[in-house]
This record gives sequence, C-alpha cells and structure tokens, in this order.
Amino acid sequence: MQRASTEDRSLEDYEPYIDGQQRRAIRQHADSLSDLRVAHVNSTASGGGVAEILRTLVPLSNDVGIDTDWLVMDAPAEFFDVTKAVHNGLQGDEIEFTDAMRDTYRRVTEENAAGLDGSYDVIVLHDPQSLGMAATLATQLPETTLVWRCHIDLTAANSAFLAFVRSNLDPIDRVIFSRAAYGREITGIEKDVVHPAIDPLTRKNRPLSALSDGGTEATDLEAYPFDPDRPLLVQVSRFDPWKDPLGVVEAYRTVQQSVPGVQLVLAGAMPDDDPEGIEIYREVATETADDPDIHLLTDLPDAGINAIQRGADIVLQKSLREGFALTVSEALWKETPVVATDVGGIPLQIEDGANGYLVDPSDLTAAADRLALLLENDERRRQFGERGREMVRERFLTPRLVSDYLRLFSDLGAEFTRRG
Ligand code: UDP
Repeated sequence: MQRASTEDRSLEDYEPYIDGQQRRAIRQHADSLSDLRVAHVNSTASGGGVAEILRTLVPLSNDVGIDTDWLVMDAPAEFFDVTKAVHNGLQGDEIEFTDAMRDTYRRVTEENAAGLDGSYDVIVLHDPQSLGMAATLATQLPETTLVWRCHIDLTAANSAFLAFVRSNLDPIDRVIFSRAAYGREITGIEKDVVHPAIDPLTRKNRPLSALSDGGTEATDLEAYPFDPDRPLLVQVSRFDPWKDPLGVVEAYRTVQQSVPGVQLVLAGAMPDDDPEGIEIYREVATETADDPDIHLLTDLPDAGINAIQRGADIVLQKSLREGFALTVSEALWKETPVVATDVGGIPLQIEDGANGYLVDPSDLTAAADRLALLLENDERRRQFGERGREMVRERFLTPRLVSDYLRLFSDLGAEFTRRG
C-alpha cells in the first residue's frame, strides 16, 4: 500500500466555520484520544468523493493530536474492473458476480492487508474496495478495531453483491453509513451514521479572490470554450452511468427550446479506480459532438472546478443513485442553485423549493421544467443560492466531520474498555 501525502492543515484556520458544540466535542474527545493511532484505507489518492474527504480529514485529525495515516491500496486494473462491478451491483445493477471476480478481489485485498505495516488502534476501510482486507487484518492485528465506512446507498442492492458484503463483515466492529436507511439490509453489527462534508478552505471551495496565487488561468472563465455571458448549466461528476450524463444532455436539449443560447458543461475526472470513465466519456462525446454549446471538460484543477461551479447559473446533479454527492454542497456553498434528483444523500442537502429543486430521476421533463423556470428567475436563483450556503454552513462543513469521527473513535474506545 502507498501512504498518500496531504497538505498540513490546522483546525484553527477553520475557526469561522466551527460552532460551539463542535468546538467542545473536538476538544473533549481529542484530549482523551491523544495516543490513538488511526489509518484510513481507500483505493485512490485523487478523484471522487472519498479521496476528497480524506485529504482534509486526515491532516485535520493529525492536527488535533490523533496520529492518522491515509493508506491507498496497490491494485492492478483488473481489480478495479471487479470493484467497479461490485459498486454497480451494490447500486442495483443486475450483473453477474463470477468466481473469477471473487478470486481477484480476495487475492488483491489479502495482499494489501498482508502488506500493511504499522500498528493501529483503529483502521477505517472505505467502501467495498478495501472491505475484503478485514479478515486478514483481524488475524494480523487482533487488537485493532476495524471500521467499514460505506459511502454507497445499499437500499436497492443486487442480492449477490449484498451477500458478498455481508460475508466480509464478520471481522468488522462498526459500519458507518451516510444515511441510516442505507444500512437497513445489514444486521447483527453496530452501525452509525456520519454525513460527509466539504472543506471550505481548499482551492476548490475558497473564494477565488482568496486563492494563494491570486487567480490562475483555470479561474478565468473567459479562457474556457463556453461564453460566460450566456446561461450556463454545469454538472461536475465522474463519467459514470449512475451520474446520468446522457440524461443531463437530454434535459439540456429540452431547456434549449425555451432558453435559446443556453450552454452545458459536463466536467469530469477519471479516477484510477474507475475504469468505466473513458468509455462513458467517449459515449457522451459522440452523442454531443454536433452541439458547439455542450462542453466536456476533463481533469480540471480544483481552482477550475471552483470557477465553473461559481460561474454556472445552475448546477445539476442528475444522479440515478447517489451516496451523498459532495458536488451538491460544493455548488450550494458557492451560492449556486442546484437542480438535482431526489435520490440518496441529495435530499439531505436540498430542500425542494427552498434552496433548489428535487426531481424524480426518471422524469426528464420535470428536470427541464425546473431548469428553465430557474434560469428565467434571477431572484429565485439568488435566494436558493443564499439559503443553500447557509444549509451547508450549518451541516456539511469539515469541522463537523472531524467532530463526528472523534466522537466515533471515542465511542469505540469506550466500548472496548467495557469489553476488555
Ligand atoms: N470532482 C473533481 N473533478 C471532476 C469531477 C469531480 O474534482 O472533474 C470532484 C468533485 O468536485 C467532488 C468529488 O470529485 O469533490 C466527487 O464527489 P461526489 O460525492 O460528488 O461523487 P463520487 O465521485 O464520490 O461518486
């Protein structure tokens, strides 16, 4: 496994975003956990929501005195083909889970577990990719508490894949979901809920004027292929069928009939652990090749994502299934209104008609209606954006996430003291 490097962060810098309760909780738990050693394990150091969260959570945990490492699995491409299939199966795809896939998964997860050096009090395994390490780790490090942090909505999982998850959970001491409902099919194990959060101080989320280099080419909307003076719809997502990029294109085409001049940006990264990205990207590129007002932008730097989330008139998140969608909080934090589907973690962030619109994932007409309505109403967009930022400030910023993890570790510690 590789140790992912992160930039140093200090919780002090987050003072304006910490409420009294969080401050007290962080102080109290951090004191009692000061000799704790923690490792977070996932499958990619960049791209996607988990890496986005860990690159802040890990240095801030260290800053408050919890000795925390971030370890990234070593895995060949065929492993990621399997784990993407597992991801898809857990989101409800009717696909086969073959013995060869199981073997690849077992081999790679066991190798990674065997290669983990260091001793930890708690190891947090993120998502299905690393879950298979639990059995080997439990033998190798019997004193270590094992947590599975599942970022996926399991409510409509394909039964073969759900059974597979269950079969790996025996050595796990606690499972963390983003919503309580996600875990209702998982029984006989302690469960907890932690909502994800965004970091207001990263290059992705700071005001553009506060970027240390004072603005780069990536933040200059004039430098992009779209016209910043015309209406702009943006979706920022991996090129993944569950993010429904073709549904976005269809909704945009309907909007185009009532809002001439509207443009669409689909911005997407290609994380190492998502082998479907290129394929879906090509499919979308072919489908949209004849429209000069649709722009596919890949691998933008964070400052660029920041600028287009701010430059958008509306951000879309047309997911068919969604664990949380950090992209929704990222847009709302920038006071950009969001039209999104009423799935997974999105309704935690959007209250329909108050700070955005929620639509049924299969209802493209409703999506197009809401987009057109909002594009034509500057005042409503402003109001939604303002309320959206407030919602994110209250619920979905990093200090709250740090305090949730400290509470969790503290709780686990107490539990083991009682048992011991
Ligand atoms: N992201 C990015 N560049 C892109 C596409 C996505 O930096 O081109 C980031 C996005 O800003 C967000 C994360 O990747 O921080 C995606 O997290 P989310 O929870 O929305 O979805 P996931 O990819 O985890 O399903």
